[in-house]
Amino acid sequence: MKRIPMLINGQWIGDESNEWLSVFNPSNGEQIAEIVKGEKHHVDEAVKAAQNAFNSQEWKKVKPYERGQLLIKLANYIRENAEEWSQWECQDVGKPISQARSDVEAAARYFEFYGGAADKVMGDTIPIEDGILNATVLEPVGVTAHIIPWNYPIQITARSVAAAIATGNAVIVKSAEDTPMTTHAIAKWFDESKLPKGIFQHITGLGSEVGAPLAGHPGINHITFTGSVPTGIAVMKTAASNVVPVTLELGGKSPNIVFADADENKALEGVVRAIIQNAGQTCSAGARLLIEEKLKESFLEKLKTRFEELKIGPGKDDLDMGPILNQKQFNQIMNKLEAAKSKGQVITGGSAITIEGSEGGYYIQPSIIDGLDASDNLAQEEIFGPVLTVFTFNDVEEAIQLANATEYGLVTGIWTSNINVAHYVASNVKSGQVFINNYGAAGGVQMPFGGYKKSGIGREKGFIALKNYTQIKNIAISFTI
Ligand code: NAD
Repeated sequence: MKRIPMLINGQWIGDESNEWLSVFNPSNGEQIAEIVKGEKHHVDEAVKAAQNAFNSQEWKKVKPYERGQLLIKLANYIRENAEEWSQWECQDVGKPISQARSDVEAAARYFEFYGGAADKVMGDTIPIEDGILNATVLEPVGVTAHIIPWNYPIQITARSVAAAIATGNAVIVKSAEDTPMTTHAIAKWFDESKLPKGIFQHITGLGSEVGAPLAGHPGINHITFTGSVPTGIAVMKTAASNVVPVTLELGGKSPNIVFADADENKALEGVVRAIIQNAGQTCSAGARLLIEEKLKESFLEKLKTRFEELKIGPGKDDLDMGPILNQKQFNQIMNKLEAAKSKGQVITGGSAITIEGSEGGYYIQPSIIDGLDASDNLAQEEIFGPVLTVFTFNDVEEAIQLANATEYGLVTGIWTSNINVAHYVASNVKSGQVFINNYGAAGGVQMPFGGYKKSGIGREKGFIALKNYTQIKNIAISFTI
């Protein structure tokens, strides 16, 4: 079993004097690792070390293109070790190994993409008047905190850390309690790199004991958080007391809107994939199906068949769907499914499953629920499991009204062969990303990602995310001879 220490100020922290928390493989419930139960003083030490590293001449002398080269080296290293890292991600999260492989490749792409961008983050010159040269300079913000959830640990760590280091910041990553493995692998790589200690640090432990002190530390200059709405609100409130900016990605209740003129097979596959990926434990999961009334009966019949064909089992078996993360997440999904049984109709699924040989894992049938009221909390809140809720519309306006009828606005899928309808709906949904006749466009490291409404604040991914980690200094130079 692996003991995972924290990386603080270039030191590996974790010995008999620390308390340790167990990490389990969701596929079979077996313990696979232990993490240090970090404490507030660890956060204080990490912030101090990050400030020292950020202010050091050693770090200032690393040129932007050299930071970029370093990140590209990390991308290459990840690719060279992709299979081992994918196995860790698969064991940590329980996801099918091919999904873990895609996540590891996406992480390499983030380091590569932001590595390439490191020397292309530029300011402007602004005309003021003759005799004044006015320029804006984009400077790093300083020390950035990255609070990571458990559903896509390596991707979510990579996407914000790569952008923050590319722009010259010092980063502190707090991984989720359940999924520390691949962040630890990144920490090991940074530890062996020639960077000043304190530029990359990794702390572990409970959200309340290290996450909250990190978010509230006055020495932090920016916080990137992905996770639940209540925790996001808590992080934002804490950050407000230090006037620290936040980038929040808080999930969604994303709709797939299927019109009767859609390519039915393509839509069907899109709807299935959007909800079963990572067993529905995805912020951008397509958790609601909005279906045009005249297509409903035939579409639901086919969807039910597809759901019942899906193969479920441990991540290593690489089937269609793996387990739920842990007992807590399993219970909250099962409670919601129980409630759904009395409030609506279960078209298929609705129960837990035991997998022979993996009895300790947390498996739930992919489920379709029809007949819920659109205002019901099951239709409004994240279930964060393989549960699709179905709603019917009769015209374009009703589809848009339903799509916008939650407090979230992360992703929308639109399935139609009518280009006018597609554009009209795309321009009227309150959603950070819109996909027409596809869902996800293969991940897209380059595409800005983030939400309207309670789905969050700001955007990650793409060039625009570099702005999260820079601040603008305006310099006006008066010249006369
Ligand atoms: P969470 O939001 O509580 O945890 C996410 C991260 O925040 C973890 O690293 C955690 O340790 C840390 N954290 C917890 N409390 C904190 C605090 N007060 N201050 C700072 N950091 C803190 O999520 P969870 O409890 O793991 O999952 C609960 C629900 O959150 C899920 O059912 C799902 O609906 C949602 N969720 C969303 C995403 C997403 O991708 N948007 C990811 C994970 C979970």
